[in-house]
Amino acid sequence: MIWHNAVAHRYCKHKQSLPLYMQPINLRSFKQKVRHHQKAFKKFLGKIEKNPPRHLDKMAETIDAEVWQEIDCLSCANCCKTMSPTFTNTDIKRIAHHFSMTPKEFKEKWLYFDEEDGDWMNTKQPCQFLNLGTNMCAIYEVRPADCAGFPHLKKKKMTEYIHVHQQNVSYCPATFKMVEKMMERLS
Ligand code: SF4
Ligand code: SF4
Repeated sequence: MIWHNAVAHRYCKHKQSLPLYMQPINLRSFKQKVRHHQKAFKKFLGKIEKNPPRHLDKMAETIDAEVWQEIDCLSCANCCKTMSPTFTNTDIKRIAHHFSMTPKEFKEKWLYFDEEDGDWMNTKQPCQFLNLGTNMCAIYEVRPADCAGFPHLKKKKMTEYIHVHQQNVSYCPATFKMVEKMMERLS
């Protein structure tokens, strides 16, 4: 997901316990960190966009792997709580079928059409498919493609996704961590 264009998920629903180096996410302290750093992080990303370092996409791949060793989405779910994924027509057909509904019924029940961006979006947040008790997605196997790819950390070319990361850095601890790591490497 991107902000308006959706959040998504890295949930490992079979995970029973966290590796020692992986700490649960505390959203309250994350929000404090965002308040202190978001301006600098967005500025840094803007510089990367204008003047990308060599091998940026390769670096993003390496950092992406590191980030998912440290971030536990199941202790977070902030994307599902605060943002909406975009639903493509393919997503809608697949998920509607999962509920034995028609795409029209599905849209009427849960979505609205954003005229400005031309996207189908959730009418409410948190997402209706998020289990707030467990932070798990009730439609994990058929979730929107946007959710499955979120937060798109190693999406290529990275320079074309900088505006996405600039939005998500304020909502997604994984994106925040990626930018922190990029700053460490490039400063
Ligand atoms: S770390 Fe990012 S992708 Fe993972 S649950 Fe939190 S907001 Fe979503
Ligand atoms: S469909 Fe699932 S993964 Fe996507 S926003 Fe809703 S709860 Fe999260």
